[in-house]
Amino acid sequence: MVNRADIGVIGGSGFYSLLDDAEEVELSTPYGPPSDVVTVGRIGSRSVAFIPRHGRDHRFPPHRIPYRANLWALRSLGVRQVLAPSAVGSLRAEVGPGAIVVPDQLVDRTSGRVQTYYDLGGAVHVSFADPYCPSGRAVAVAAARSGEWDTVDGGTLVVIEGPRFSTRAESQWFQGNGWTIVGMTGFPEAVLARELALCYTSLSLVTDHDAGVEAGQGVTHEEVLEFFGRNVTRMRTLVAEAVRALPEHRTCACGSALDGVKLPFELP
Ligand SMILES: [Zn+2]
Repeated sequence: MVNRADIGVIGGSGFYSLLDDAEEVELSTPYGPPSDVVTVGRIGSRSVAFIPRHGRDHRFPPHRIPYRANLWALRSLGVRQVLAPSAVGSLRAEVGPGAIVVPDQLVDRTSGRVQTYYDLGGAVHVSFADPYCPSGRAVAVAAARSGEWDTVDGGTLVVIEGPRFSTRAESQWFQGNGWTIVGMTGFPEAVLARELALCYTSLSLVTDHDAGVEAGQGVTHEEVLEFFGRNVTRMRTLVAEAVRALPEHRTCACGSALDGVKLPFELP
């Protein structure tokens, strides 16, 4: 493989102009093609691979994203640390639109998505008590604070199946559990990264309050897109700053997620 990258970014199509010396790489994986061609380039001295999560033309809704192919493609390029910017709804009145949440916990409320690479040839049970990379989280929080974002260090992301938004009752239930933000793409992305021993960090941009918060009217797709569009340049700067600050050599435990485990196949 000629094109190699250390860091992966999975995000919206607004991130294309993130990379210098960008080249497109068409990849196939045992799980089919990723969401789109992968763009490999540089940010400063770091080599970065970018995948538009929903495809360049936004053809994949959250429940149809080829999550396994995306993470596999990144790993096969040499990526070991992944940054995952996304749009989320807030479950807390005090966390408003424009805040960046770097969650440290996750609740899976998806259904019917394939959430493992290890479905043949014997069980592989990865530890997922702490679903996010501690080093990546620290870097993301510092980058958001230095960019003067309203930054929330920690919190629980609940991932719903979608593509519909929550009902008021669901949203109030999520809030009652003390969860912080709600999204549709953070799972199985996070667990698939762990299953490939990758570092994975979510940078969640709050675009709205979910249906149950402050008796809000509930969110519309147009509102989310419009808000994300207005913040895309700032988000790009934030992700670039985080990329620059990621450690050159990993000292976290993410890379040891599969130590001592007999794998049914070799990782790329
Ligand atoms: Zn890590």
